[in-house]
Amino acid sequence: MHTTSETLPLYDIHQAAFLEFKGTPPILTKQGSRVVSRYRRQKQTYALLRGYQDNPSIPLLDYVAVLRRLRARMLEARDGNEKREGEREMDTGTLCSPLNNVLSLLDNPRPIGNRYVTKCPAHNDAEASLSISEGSDGQALIHCFAGCPTKAYNRRLGA
Ligand SMILES: [Zn+2]
Repeated sequence: MHTTSETLPLYDIHQAAFLEFKGTPPILTKQGSRVVSRYRRQKQTYALLRGYQDNPSIPLLDYVAVLRRLRARMLEARDGNEKREGEREMDTGTLCSPLNNVLSLLDNPRPIGNRYVTKCPAHNDAEASLSISEGSDGQALIHCFAGCPTKAYNRRLGA
């Protein structure tokens, strides 16, 4: 039997996001200047990892939300109890913003003002009907002016 104090190191951020999405958040510890994520060696974790190998997909918007949560916790683990001086600049070396995550999945998005537009991947789009912008809380906002539901993007973007 494994004891719960044994941990399993984890280096793949997509795997970490998958497990977080399934309700098994990583244990984040600081090693030097790096933050390492680990999982308890328990039946549930192994079952989830097998599930990940079979089908690693997460709905796009959930994936973005999970990455955002993970990043916040990684920064917290890295900075410990250090006082935050106002709005600290985010470290984009580990994970990028929800907006960038979404943009990276789309075909050639063009900036217009404070948003991006591109052809909607969820319908046969002759124009750039899809608008992507950043919400006030940092979330990526996606809207198709032809009326595609959010579920359609998750499916077509393969995330
Ligand atoms: Zn559409």
